[in-house]
Amino acid sequence: MSAELLQALRAAVGPAQVLTHEDPAADLSAWENDWRKRAQGRALAVVRPGSTAEVAAVVRACAEAGAAIVPQGGNTGLVVGSVPDDSGTQVVLSLTRMNAVRAIDGANLTMTVEAGCVLQSLQDAAENAGFLFPLSLAAEGSCTIGGNLATNAGGTQVVRYGNARELCLGLEVVTAQGEVWQGLTGLRKDNTGYDLRDLFIGSEGTLGVITAATLKLYPLPAAQLTAWAAVPTLDAAVALLGLAHQHLGAGLTGFEVMGQFALGLVDKHFPALRVPLWADSPYCVLLENSDSESEEHARGQFERLLETAFEQGLVSDAVVAESLSQARGLWHIRESIPLAQAEEGLNIKHDISIPVSRIPAFCAETDALLQREIPGVRLVNFGHLGDGNLHYNVQAPADGDAKKFLNEQETRVNTLVFDAVARYDGSISAEHGVGSLKVAHLPHYKDPVALGLMRAIKQALDPHHLMNPGRVLTHP
Ligand code: FAD
Ligand code: ZN
Repeated sequence: MSAELLQALRAAVGPAQVLTHEDPAADLSAWENDWRKRAQGRALAVVRPGSTAEVAAVVRACAEAGAAIVPQGGNTGLVVGSVPDDSGTQVVLSLTRMNAVRAIDGANLTMTVEAGCVLQSLQDAAENAGFLFPLSLAAEGSCTIGGNLATNAGGTQVVRYGNARELCLGLEVVTAQGEVWQGLTGLRKDNTGYDLRDLFIGSEGTLGVITAATLKLYPLPAAQLTAWAAVPTLDAAVALLGLAHQHLGAGLTGFEVMGQFALGLVDKHFPALRVPLWADSPYCVLLENSDSESEEHARGQFERLLETAFEQGLVSDAVVAESLSQARGLWHIRESIPLAQAEEGLNIKHDISIPVSRIPAFCAETDALLQREIPGVRLVNFGHLGDGNLHYNVQAPADGDAKKFLNEQETRVNTLVFDAVARYDGSISAEHGVGSLKVAHLPHYKDPVALGLMRAIKQALDPHHLMNPGRVLTHP
């Protein structure tokens, strides 16, 4: 059967675009292993279509053979959702050859692009045309827009522009049956029934394959300023966020919080980055102000905001970047936290969200709980405070064996953190999605009626469970 399928796949995309282990020289590890090295799969084949018609032909061939498909973009996902299992029977459908910008419509403020476009290349394409495409995350140099939409990615500009979902107006999708849904509309208003676009966004490849999207563009800001402030408490950070909303309005495009231990790891592993103000303060905050008038105007706004914050005791010290390269340096420190954590050793990652107002109480309670339950545990707390989204990560005790810690404690740590999230009306995944890593946890935390509706949708759209099986929902 697999020989027939391979033949059909080669007919669909050309023999050069079907990679298999039949060729002893072929190295498929880049498609088979996930970014965090949590899983090592084995694919029947990696297939690399170059057009929507080819994607549809691949899906039809797999449907006929009853073979499971794992859609893959840049393979930067953090929840083991984009790699095959180790059965040697699944087909990885890599979208990276579909990387054309099909159209830019300046007056409509949209661009239509193929799913395999690397995010950074889209930011550049938009900028070259005089516009801003605001989706921005640390993996932007290799993640694809198809993967961003499939995971409804967030990142650092959500406080102003929203998630990937809010930036998408239309989609082109190959269904599990191999039909093409042509939904590439650039309309901002369309009330003609169920929102299929929103169904496929965030579905993590379990309902169909996104092949292209129409995305929103924004005017480029006249100036962008970045500030770094030391705050005495998380309560002060939340109050500073409120003040920043008041003072900057729509200019507030970034508001990140970083705990002292997280910044200490950056200082330890990347001393050349020169982390400011971290040693004497439990938290630091990174703020970004994007101004449509001028740098002078932005600087004046920032000065008034920080002055008020000092007066109210919300900020103990602050620096405002003097140049673009200084601003980039400050963002680089923020983005280096996960890398510093990896240098420090294996760790447990979370991407939870809580209503902003309840974050200080959540952290106080959960920090104390974890320290009581697992003596010596180290908390690497940072994230997108403006969106109520924390990377509430847990590092093994300094003197312990990190691998043993992960094997023995991961489920317990997850349960402690997720139970606390539920008590605070939060979500166990604000950004990275469910994938395989959280699939067993989801039924405990998702409303049972919602879960039933999700299963019904999966059954209706993919009745044979061939689209990324076992991700988001357990395989029945
Ligand atoms: P992949 O990893 O290839 O796939 C992710 C999921 O989408 C899989 O389930 C896959 O099957 C599915 N998929 C991929 N392409 C398609 C398609 N065309 N059609 C249907 N399904 C598809 N995420 C955030 O939200 N915010 C962050 O700030 C953030 N920072 C990150 C920083 C780093 C250093 C890294 C490594 C990751 C980060 N992520 C972040 C994770 C994030 O989910 C991914 O980086 C990105 O959105 C996934 O894109 P990708 O092309 O790599 O998708
Ligand atoms: Zn994040």
